[in-house]
Amino acid sequence: MSRIAPPLNPPVRILMGPGPSDIHPRVLAAMAKGTVGHLDPYYLQIMDGLQEMLRGLFRTKNPMTFAVSATGSAGMEAAVVNLVEPADSMLVCVNGVFGARMADVAVRAGAEVMQVARPWGEVFTPDDLQDALAKAKPKVVGIVMAETSTGAWQPLEEISQLVRDSGAMLLVDAVTSLGGVPVEVDEWGIDAIYSGSQKCLSCPPGLAPVSFSPRAVEAVMNRKRKVQSWYLDITMLANYWGTDRVYHHTAPINMSYALYEALRLVHEEGLEACFARHMLNHRALRAGLAALGIEYAAQEGHQLPMLNAVRIPAGVNDAKARKALLERFGIEIGGGLGDFKGKVWRIGLMGHASRATNVLVFLAALESLLAEQGHKFDHGASIAAANEVYAK
Ligand SMILES: *Cc1c(COP(=O)(O)O)cnc(C)c1O
Repeated sequence: MSRIAPPLNPPVRILMGPGPSDIHPRVLAAMAKGTVGHLDPYYLQIMDGLQEMLRGLFRTKNPMTFAVSATGSAGMEAAVVNLVEPADSMLVCVNGVFGARMADVAVRAGAEVMQVARPWGEVFTPDDLQDALAKAKPKVVGIVMAETSTGAWQPLEEISQLVRDSGAMLLVDAVTSLGGVPVEVDEWGIDAIYSGSQKCLSCPPGLAPVSFSPRAVEAVMNRKRKVQSWYLDITMLANYWGTDRVYHHTAPINMSYALYEALRLVHEEGLEACFARHMLNHRALRAGLAALGIEYAAQEGHQLPMLNAVRIPAGVNDAKARKALLERFGIEIGGGLGDFKGKVWRIGLMGHASRATNVLVFLAALESLLAEQGHKFDHGASIAAANEVYAK
């Protein structure tokens, strides 16, 4: 007989890492509502509501807007495998972990992948893409809007124009940006975009909002070969999320409830107010960190409000500090990935985690840990600096 594992008793955490973020109690409560069938008339209404609220958030009229039943990486995979066929050319912009992941997905899908690169923490300008666009004449250009590994905020207005003028389709990673900063799918002419439920939407991980432009859907319909992934083929998913409602897979009903409630929260607050809240808490945190002599890793003027990647002060032990934050204060932040491993902390202020309480508690906890490790600073200065931002 197998032993019964201990009962669930997850520790209470403040989730200030690169995702998952803190979850609003209303979202957790939504998940515990009764499960209905995936073709139940009630569930079909939930799907309609989800699609409508996602269109509002993506700022698009795209009919093909829904949530893939899997995490953000599956959203990435869905966008790539539908748009590229083997031997198609795809240009991928790589300045961190997630651009590199997108290039890997495209190679696996059989695309001829050309990469343009920028150093970690920097963003792309139209000039960076010009030559590559002329040379590769790509069918698709992929770019990450909020590079969670570096905290860099990629502007898309000009690049989207350039890509459109070249005739290519634009594929955007909005996993961390959606719900934290404006994402304008129609205005910027984005053809395929994906996100994830657990970053600024503050849901548990498990769903990936996506949207495809009519031009992208037409390209998928005109493919020479079937989409290589059965599960992510949007020509089949269109029949489930569209008017036919043909069974495709058993949708994760209670996860859909969670996303539904999370989207209701964002729309209740209002998109502009939600973005302004993310910016205000970012400014307060940045002022507090500056008072401790802590600098940002991403290029000046392109720092994400919801993902604060900062350089670990010299002499401070990364692992020890993060362990103490978690064990003594219940606060999770992220360490560095790849080039930034051991050098950078990633402090998330995503969705429901983007609150003054979290900023002030984090700064107070950080001060006590830095003092223990002999880092010199004015005690209390970070909290005063953050409060000054809030007082204005
Ligand atoms: C988190 C993240 C992903 C991957 O999402 P998962 O939900 O972890 O699969 C992709 N792109 C970016 C920019 C991310 O931050």
